[in-house]
Amino acid sequence: MLDEAAVEEFKGTLRGELIQPGDSDYDEARKVYNGSINKRPRMIAHCADVADVISCVNFARENDMLLAVRGGGHNGGGLAVADDALVIDLSSMRGVRVDPEERTVRVEGGARWGDVDHASHAFGLAVPTGIISTTGVAGLTLGGGHGYLSRKYGLAIDNLLEADVVLADGRLVKANEEENEDLFWAIRGGGGNFGVVTSFLFKGNPVSTVYGGPMLWELDRAEEILRWYREFSLQAPEDLYGFFAFLSVPPGPPFPEHLHNKNMCAVVWCYSGALEDAEDAFRPIREDVGLAAFEFLGPMPMPVLNSLFDPLLPPGLSQYWRGDFVKELSDEAIALHLEYGSALPTPLSTMHIYPIDGAVHRVGDNDTAFSHRDANWSAVYFGVDPDPDNAERLTEWTKEYWAALHPYSAGGAYVNFMMDEGQERIKATYQDNFERLVEIKNEYDPTNLFRVNQNIRPTATV
Ligand SMILES: Cc1cc2nc3c(=O)[nH]c(=O)nc-3n(C[C@H](O)[C@H](O)[C@H](O)COP(=O)(O)OP(=O)(O)OC[C@H]3O[C@@H](n4cnc5c(N)ncnc54)[C@H](O)[C@@H]3O)c2cc1C
Repeated sequence: MLDEAAVEEFKGTLRGELIQPGDSDYDEARKVYNGSINKRPRMIAHCADVADVISCVNFARENDMLLAVRGGGHNGGGLAVADDALVIDLSSMRGVRVDPEERTVRVEGGARWGDVDHASHAFGLAVPTGIISTTGVAGLTLGGGHGYLSRKYGLAIDNLLEADVVLADGRLVKANEEENEDLFWAIRGGGGNFGVVTSFLFKGNPVSTVYGGPMLWELDRAEEILRWYREFSLQAPEDLYGFFAFLSVPPGPPFPEHLHNKNMCAVVWCYSGALEDAEDAFRPIREDVGLAAFEFLGPMPMPVLNSLFDPLLPPGLSQYWRGDFVKELSDEAIALHLEYGSALPTPLSTMHIYPIDGAVHRVGDNDTAFSHRDANWSAVYFGVDPDPDNAERLTEWTKEYWAALHPYSAGGAYVNFMMDEGQERIKATYQDNFERLVEIKNEYDPTNLFRVNQNIRPTATV
């Protein structure tokens, strides 16, 4: 039991609001993006600044409270909140500052990618992010971060220059290549295990208008398209990125009515080379596979491509996730993809295969905590529906799809696509980086204060 006087005193140290059960905004504040997560934290601190974050870390440690950290709140497993925890909610800390001379982008710990896209686009710059703009910068980056610009500019972490981190003992430290290098190594892929990142400094890359959007094919061409895609995707110029998907066509513009609600396969493209060369970049695709059933492809500002699918995936949908890294797409794996990918359980459910070759491969497996640099793709099986009553169907399909394809995977999964899947999965993900992560955890968080995550347990708590 927490002492009420201590809670009041703690509240007095904060500039941001402290929300507790019984407060009118409690139910709203405890919601996360995945509608099937229903956790009841003991307190939610809407931190206004780094001082608030430090105060929360100290209070949780001194009162032996479970501590959860919320960046964008998008994690599939709901790792931004926990029952009975103190939640450090960073959603009021979303500032972005671009330095056009240095080509750097400084981002606060609660920002979303849309905040970064908006601010950096004004200067013709972009930081490699995912494929949707509502995800949090913090969670996505700390897990690695792959998306439209990964083949050309690497993972989000490959563009991270520095971070400010509040450690378990309440100290604020800088982590970069010169200071606290071990911590800097660990937060590039090791998730939120090592402290609260209050600020990220990224390299900005010269990206402004890209040429992109989806191409869709009928399911009876899916085998042919996947076989072509596995070859094409790997030898395409790094300016050209395309992720493969099984999907149900949304019933609205720009999709033609005769395709609405139809299960199809697709590749969503992003060409980030010179615009005058875009048609040339797509010519080989049309020569190889002929006309698509529909395409919505053209020049668009990077922030537009990055938010194209936001309206399809509002907060509150029930979701279930599984993922795996993939080195090869064998004929056998493709046959299984056809079986499960063409039987989506609900219209929003999907399967994506994201390329992580190109620039991602130019960083070594042990250069950052993100292992599996030799994988070519990161696959995600994503059951989604607005109706909570369908949760079981989503889970079943997702798990069965994953179980069928897992034997053809590289063994581990992208941490940001994992649910609560146990220590063996975490070890398989970090491979021979795992031991070093444990050593760094022992040094920076020996009592495992930061454990609402894909947890790397310090030795003393195993
Ligand atoms: C629709 C959708 C599309 C996606 N697409 C992509 C994609 O294209 N590429 C990709 O790489 N990923 C993608 N993801 C996965 C995404 O990377 C994860 O969901 C990620 O966890 C989201 O980060 P967040 O800050 O919103 O998460 P949160 O739920 O807030 O947090 C996730 C984890 O990070 C920790 N954390 C959050 N903020 C901090 C902080 N400041 N300091 C320390 N720890 C912190 C939390 O404690 C938690 O353990 C997608 C997710 C969704 C829902």
